[in-house]
Amino acid sequence: MSQDKQPYIGRFAPSPTGPLHFGSLYTALAGFLQARSQKGKWLLRIDDLDTPRNAKGSIDHILKTLDIFGLHWDDSVYFQSHNLDVYEDALHELTENRLIFACTCSRKMLTETHPEQAQSDIYPGICRDRPPPPHTAYAFRIKTDNRIISFQDGLQGFIAQNLAEQHGDFILKRKDGIIAYQFAVVVDDHRQQINHVLRGFDLLDSTPKQIYLQQQLGLATPQYMHVPIIIDTQGYKLSKQTLAQAVDLKAPNKLIFELLTLLKQAPPDELKHAETTELLNWAIAHWNPNPLEKLRAISR
Ligand code: GLU
Ligand code: ZN
Repeated sequence: MSQDKQPYIGRFAPSPTGPLHFGSLYTALAGFLQARSQKGKWLLRIDDLDTPRNAKGSIDHILKTLDIFGLHWDDSVYFQSHNLDVYEDALHELTENRLIFACTCSRKMLTETHPEQAQSDIYPGICRDRPPPPHTAYAFRIKTDNRIISFQDGLQGFIAQNLAEQHGDFILKRKDGIIAYQFAVVVDDHRQQINHVLRGFDLLDSTPKQIYLQQQLGLATPQYMHVPIIIDTQGYKLSKQTLAQAVDLKAPNKLIFELLTLLKQAPPDELKHAETTELLNWAIAHWNPNPLEKLRAISR
């Protein structure tokens, strides 16, 4: 379905698990430039459902960083945690279609009983046809089947997956009651009327699951563009897990210049000392994501 005629609505959706680091700023800048160059909206969503992983102070840090770097978002910030009932409604809808089942399996048990599948994280279907157990905590999984889910990524080309073979039935709500990322992102992209998702290559593999959920819920599929992730010289992703440092807020224009170079925009030397706003205006006017085609990672 072509969505070319609709106004562009994109988003940046960081998880508040720590301060914004260079890699997340790279994705944020790409998403901002893509949206602004299309005269579209760029929304900010805080993916804060995984409460045990939320880090104190990181929301403030994320907002402050985006502001200092001139990456101003549209509308008010959307917090996933403020809208918990909408996930329950969507879950209920899928339950009525008999696509959902209760799963009591623990990771430990799966590793012991199905070591091969556990290694590749494919659920072996143990609880599929069992009724929900009394007095035990359980997760909710969605049944997958052998259909091929495919899409054309704006940078990574044609992607196709067989969900049953490559992922198996996956979790929508965890045993601890927390809504899983794959599910929340679909519900919220729809609620926010997102029609273009630009994010890091590390999430490419999740996209077919999300498209499957959109299909089951009767929702439109946005267009996807997965930009390379930033890795360090040892080849590791710069992420909160590898304790990548918070970005330095003192000279935003310098960092933006570096980010534009890593986004392969070839900013001219005379802009090296330009103010942030001037740099961003140049970048919006000249934005071209094509040099990032087929790139999965870029080292800093
Ligand atoms: N919250 C996710 C993350 O920080 C990104 C979600 C998305 O862009 O789909 O990794
Ligand atoms: Zn199970």
